[in-house]
Amino acid sequence: AKADGRSVYRFFESQMDSEARERRLLEVELRDAIKNNELVLYYQPLVSAEDARPTGFEALVRWNHPIRGLVAPAEFIPIAEQSNLIVDIGDWTIEQACLAAVNWPEHLTVAVNLSAKHFRRSDISVVVKRALAMSGLAAPRLEIEITEGLLMENPEAVVEKLGEIRALGVTIAMDDFGTGYSSLSYLLKFPFDKIKIDRSFVDASSDDEVARDILKAIASLGKTLKLKITAEGVETQAQAEFLSGIACHQLQGFYFARPLDHIDLPHYLLTHVLP
Ligand code: C2E
Ligand code: CA
Ligand code: CA
Ligand code: CA
Repeated sequence: AKADGRSVYRFFESQMDSEARERRLLEVELRDAIKNNELVLYYQPLVSAEDARPTGFEALVRWNHPIRGLVAPAEFIPIAEQSNLIVDIGDWTIEQACLAAVNWPEHLTVAVNLSAKHFRRSDISVVVKRALAMSGLAAPRLEIEITEGLLMENPEAVVEKLGEIRALGVTIAMDDFGTGYSSLSYLLKFPFDKIKIDRSFVDASSDDEVARDILKAIASLGKTLKLKITAEGVETQAQAEFLSGIACHQLQGFYFARPLDHIDLPHYLLTHVLP
């Protein structure tokens, strides 16, 4: 029995070793991915809840790995968050997104996901300003989505930086609203323009009346606080109808469109935006 225990232990130990090794390897590779041009942005449409016409796109990063193929952000963003690579990825994403959006019809916006880590550095507003200047994109066409993790570590500094970015005319959205421990106190503390209701509520709304009531409550909270409301993860017509019925402003999800690559995006613009 003793020997068995030891071998089970050794099994876990080597399992952990190989996971740690895998992470380290990914981290090393990720370091080169940006300069090797392996990161790509996909763009998922956001549509008006009123008429389903596109209002803009959210930039979603993918890693086009030479051997592993297309790696989803869930697999490398957490690794990037642990090192400071997430900040480099964020800088790159803002620039690329602004450069892309400046070629779209003028009423369309572009949203970029930034890690809370980005707000630990002092010059975040400089990065945003530089990307706007370099691309020529008008500030109101840029949105920044942030999830609540880590923002509370130094709220005063974050509030100041958010203020600087908003002063440029950029929109700030609280992403994945409702999933954190303290979504409401975040609304109290930080100056958001917009909230994006997490996909989990939309998903549950199909067969759960409580989820529908929560969505209604969030929508009316948004109205009171004069915040724009976006719902993400809309997959069915019934969800879309319910959400526009409770006065959400924007919808996003596979029901309307998936994240689009550089081939599908121009086609989408031609078929959904131009005429
Ligand atoms: P998120 O910001 O909440 O992005 C929405 C995610 O839901 C995207 O997954 C999108 O493809 C997916 N999605 C959209 N509509 C639907 C739907 O109707 N049904 C379902 N099942 N899924 C839908 P993706 O692209 O894999 O991104 C996952 C997460 O990775 C993002 O969640 C975001 O937190 C993070 N992420 C993505 N790109 C970036 C980035 O450039 N920087 C940072 N810091 N994080 C990023
Ligand atoms: Ca997002
Ligand atoms: Ca989201
Ligand atoms: Ca989400």
